[in-house]
Amino acid sequence: MDSNNMALNEQRNKRKRIRKMKTGIVTFIGIWFMIITVVNVILCWRVIVLQNEVNALLRGKVEKTSVESAAPVQDISDETQEIGTLVTSDSGTGEENLRNADDILKVYLTFDDGPSDNSNQILDILDDYGVKATFFVTGKENSSSIAVYQRIVNEGHTIGMHSYSHKYNELYQSMDSFSADYNRIHNLILNTTGVDSHFYRFPGGSSNQVSDTDMAQFIHFLNSNNVTYVDWNVSSGDATSEPLTRDDLVENVMNDVVKYKTSVVLLHDASDKKTTVQALPKLIESLQREGAIILPISDDTKPIQHVTLVDNQ
Ligand code: ZN
Repeated sequence: MDSNNMALNEQRNKRKRIRKMKTGIVTFIGIWFMIITVVNVILCWRVIVLQNEVNALLRGKVEKTSVESAAPVQDISDETQEIGTLVTSDSGTGEENLRNADDILKVYLTFDDGPSDNSNQILDILDDYGVKATFFVTGKENSSSIAVYQRIVNEGHTIGMHSYSHKYNELYQSMDSFSADYNRIHNLILNTTGVDSHFYRFPGGSSNQVSDTDMAQFIHFLNSNNVTYVDWNVSSGDATSEPLTRDDLVENVMNDVVKYKTSVVLLHDASDKKTTVQALPKLIESLQREGAIILPISDDTKPIQHVTLVDNQ
């Protein structure tokens, strides 16, 4: 009986333990499932959020890339259609301007890069010979520079613009920087002399290879403001890095001037161009001996331009 009871008890205990184990296992599996489900939900949610962020970033990048690459192309084609195309001009050296034996030479002496101390010496020499010239000035606001602007105008010479800053990289950086610089030099001349200047010489000329921006835009800007840009067809060579002698400068000009009906001569009145000052009396005398008439640039002047803008139509 006792042994029977004991066996029964043991069996009952064993069942109890097995039930407990079963309950433990089921509970464990249940909890495990719950944890996995919760983790899955959290992970799914994170994946959706990240997917959205990635999509937004990709959309942004695509938009940015298309703005960067497509827009300028769009701009250029639009602008070129509207503005026209630059073509090389032979207004200075072409057949039409070649001198015939009996043609009287028209010579326009032009001085770039002033005012400087040399400007006053040049004005003195021009006054001595009763000759009028053209000064393409840069922007300087000290009293002696302002006095030079005024003297140019008062003594009957033509005052033209040669940019305010004369810094190629700033001036030609964009249409905005060009027009801002243009307004500065135009207003400075207007405010100091009362002259509404409408002649412009591009630093480096209209055909310069320095500007990263298409020169067509700047030419279009000047054209639409009724400003005439004037290049040159005769160069004295006074801007070379190897300084030339007084006689070299005169010879350079005289050799070319005799070829053309109209000559626009490039000279400089910057502070380091002493030789130009020294060459000027001899140059004027040589030109007068050749029968040339020396004139200041005016609306009657045949504009000498290295490039011109033609309509695309
Ligand atoms: Zn210059």
